[in-house]
Amino acid sequence: MRLAGKTAFITGAGSGLGRAAAERFAAEGATVVGADIDYDGVQETVDAIDGEAAAHELDVRDFEAFRDAIDATAEEYGLDILLNNAGIMHEATPMESLDHGMLDRLIDINVKGVWNGTAAALPHLKDQESGSIVNTASLAGVIGSPNYSGYSLTKGAVVNLTRAVAAEAGPDGVRVNAVCPGVTETSMPKGDRSEEEWEEIASRMAEEYPLRRLGQPEDVANAMLFLASDEADWITGETLVIDGGFSCA
Ligand code: NAD
Repeated sequence: MRLAGKTAFITGAGSGLGRAAAERFAAEGATVVGADIDYDGVQETVDAIDGEAAAHELDVRDFEAFRDAIDATAEEYGLDILLNNAGIMHEATPMESLDHGMLDRLIDINVKGVWNGTAAALPHLKDQESGSIVNTASLAGVIGSPNYSGYSLTKGAVVNLTRAVAAEAGPDGVRVNAVCPGVTETSMPKGDRSEEEWEEIASRMAEEYPLRRLGQPEDVANAMLFLASDEADWITGETLVIDGGFSCA
């Protein structure tokens, strides 16, 4: 069991990558505390876990609430891993047409949400001189994604925040890394499309990936698990691209 005896706090655990990570981490022995703005979703994730797990309703934009949830977790279970995973994206749109309200929302959730979680967890992790923070950035944070400038902006910020905090908190025994997934089949890229419509789009997109398929949530959860675990004990400030080879082609 690669996470035996550890507690992981996971945001966006109500669906997609966060849910897959919650299940994977729990299967490796972690106590999982899931948090999401969608309480029903995160409760469903927790209910499906066979082991110690708890659900919190949390909007990652709310620093005080984030700090309260982290403090309560640290007190009840301890805190070893923070997975800053909650995020949103926007409709494909030329940069100059992106609604400024949407831009603010993207920055508040995708960037400040990661900031808030990190700032809330660091005092605990530094005190115990150990801990691993994993941030969900995106391939869009390391390559330019046409018509997704707002999303790319926020994910690029997460990549460099990861490096900055890794450099800052390393001497205190805290590691900070990021995963950068390519298109992975969750409700985020699927949106409101019908299953039939999505399958057609997905098979067209898959042709652009050297491994000829899109990502599955488990592909990303496996990489999150590695970075969270002691197997990555000398890895910090790293961004791990998980994209079926898309960015090397
Ligand atoms: P998803 O929509 O299935 O899951 C996102 C979760 O975040 C949802 O449960 C949602 O309720 C939660 N959330 C949204 N706003 C929140 C807030 N303010 N506070 C707390 N929770 C909030 O999408 P996903 O694909 O699982 O996305 C997870 C992360 O992975 C995101 O950061 C996303 O940007 C990133 N990502 C996804 C892909 C992909 O193709 N699916 C690729 C690269 C990166």
